[in-house]
Amino acid sequence: MTSFSEFTSLCVKIESVPGSLEMTDIFAAFLKEADDDELAVSCYMIMGEIFPAWTGKKLGLGPNLLYSALSKAAGISPEKIQILLRQTGDVGETTCQALGDDKKSQSTFSSFLTDDGNEESSSKSGRLSIRDVYDRLKEIADVSGKGAQSQKIKTLQFLFSESSPEEAKYISRIALEELRIGIGEGIVRDSIAKAFDVPVSLVEFAFMVTNDLGQVAVVSKTGGVGALEKQHIRVDRPVKMMLAQVTNSIETAFTELGEAAIEWKFDGARLQIHKNGDDVRLYSRRLEDVTDSLPDVVQTVLSSVTAKDAVLDGEAVAIDENGKIRPFQDILRRFRRKYDVETTSHNIPIHVNLFDLLYADGESYIEKPLTERRNKLSGIVKAGAKGISVDELTITKDPEKAAEIYHAALNAGHEGIMIKNPSSPYSPGKRGKNWLKKKPVMDTLDLIVIGGEWGAGKRKNKIGSYVLACYDDVKNVYLEIGRVGTGLSDELLDSLTEQFADLIEAEDGVMMKIKPEVVFEIAFEEIQKSPNYPAGYALRFPRLVRVRDDKTIEEIDTIEKVGRMYQGQKETN
Ligand code: AMP
Repeated sequence: MTSFSEFTSLCVKIESVPGSLEMTDIFAAFLKEADDDELAVSCYMIMGEIFPAWTGKKLGLGPNLLYSALSKAAGISPEKIQILLRQTGDVGETTCQALGDDKKSQSTFSSFLTDDGNEESSSKSGRLSIRDVYDRLKEIADVSGKGAQSQKIKTLQFLFSESSPEEAKYISRIALEELRIGIGEGIVRDSIAKAFDVPVSLVEFAFMVTNDLGQVAVVSKTGGVGALEKQHIRVDRPVKMMLAQVTNSIETAFTELGEAAIEWKFDGARLQIHKNGDDVRLYSRRLEDVTDSLPDVVQTVLSSVTAKDAVLDGEAVAIDENGKIRPFQDILRRFRRKYDVETTSHNIPIHVNLFDLLYADGESYIEKPLTERRNKLSGIVKAGAKGISVDELTITKDPEKAAEIYHAALNAGHEGIMIKNPSSPYSPGKRGKNWLKKKPVMDTLDLIVIGGEWGAGKRKNKIGSYVLACYDDVKNVYLEIGRVGTGLSDELLDSLTEQFADLIEAEDGVMMKIKPEVVFEIAFEEIQKSPNYPAGYALRFPRLVRVRDDKTIEEIDTIEKVGRMYQGQKETN
């Protein structure tokens, strides 16, 4: 059994090394020693997560709740916690200091205190096992209904009071899903391969189809290569969506692909459909289960998909009574709807445009070429069905033909076109060159909000501007790249201020630190090199295009993409 104190030492060690290779070595060594029932849990927690990716579940704990628990466990006032937060600017450090250095002034645990107040802290080290912490955090995520808040606080309080200040530092960071010690999925994948001596490519494959690195670790250890090879897509488990890269021009795309499959790029919301006999489950781009919000789509799938079992990929769009597309926000309203589902489904009908097939009638299709997947897809969806269709696909070598389709898509109110490699497999979670997207030139980046500033004058009591960051997907950290304060209507400012209210982690004067959870699509004129931001780049004239509630924080644009866009900009200037 591994203690949480050993896990804490692991985190400290990983934080102290700069490179991913060293991190891989350290984590691989840890995995080698871990018991079988700790393997999966270690993989989730080292990435600051509790649930495997396929569940789409998050801990969803607000900072205020954590501060209440901390205040109680440490026996210090909420005001004092706020002061510490302002001083340290970090939840973990605040927890550590509240439970450690400030102990002398506490009353709650005074009976344990020795002369210098520190012995008790260190004697607590090692009381909790890694599973204890995991199970309690999972309990926090699962409790709901009446009394849930106080139950959550109690559980956290228990964890804090049973751990040393340093352990508690990491518990806090995991509880807020902000561990960020530099380990992302890529490093965990490599560590599994190294620890159990199996090829990285096989671990990658197993991860793509199971969407669960914890499970892959267990399979690698217990069954090795043979068991990894047997992993496959399942109808009850969503996999990450295949994604597209931007192409600057249709011509460039054809130079890269030669022959290409062209489809409209629908302006809606991604939908992964799992049909298992009469049971249909629908998953959003973030892999949230949205089945209950879309009963009409469930019925449509049941009546028009002829395969018994299938995993389908497509884009759901909201339409009006004439079948014309409605704004993007309308479809999101449908996806999030928990009440009045029937009425809303009547008011905002949906049409699903299917464009891919991952699995059908017991057979996996992801390894097969796009053309073959599409043939099968057309064969299992009734033609002319209401509310669902297989989108039109044109295979051509002619950029002119693609340009025609592009203009037709824009005229119909859609975003542009997708230019796909006809012989490519379906690669879950990959944003590669096999799918290229062409939209009208307006450069945008999807960035995460990590902070904000209270407004003044007309914007008093509202968050008037937002601090934005891009993602370093290797190290799993966010890098600040600038701020946005324009493109925000009064109405939007109000709703955003409300949305962010429970995500504020710390305030310092007018500035605040925000729990990274909300994605902004930001338009800008130019990317510039800048020493002023940790990203090393800044955006000229940024403005908010829309709030991307359909995107997860792992999906925001990477520092690597910002760099590529900067280079591209230099080449076209
Ligand atoms: P973006 O959201 O800009 O990264 O563009 C990729 C998204 O376009 C996908 O995640 C889908 O939701 C959407 N999309 C619309 N039409 C298609 C299509 N024909 N093929 C693939 N993705 C599409």
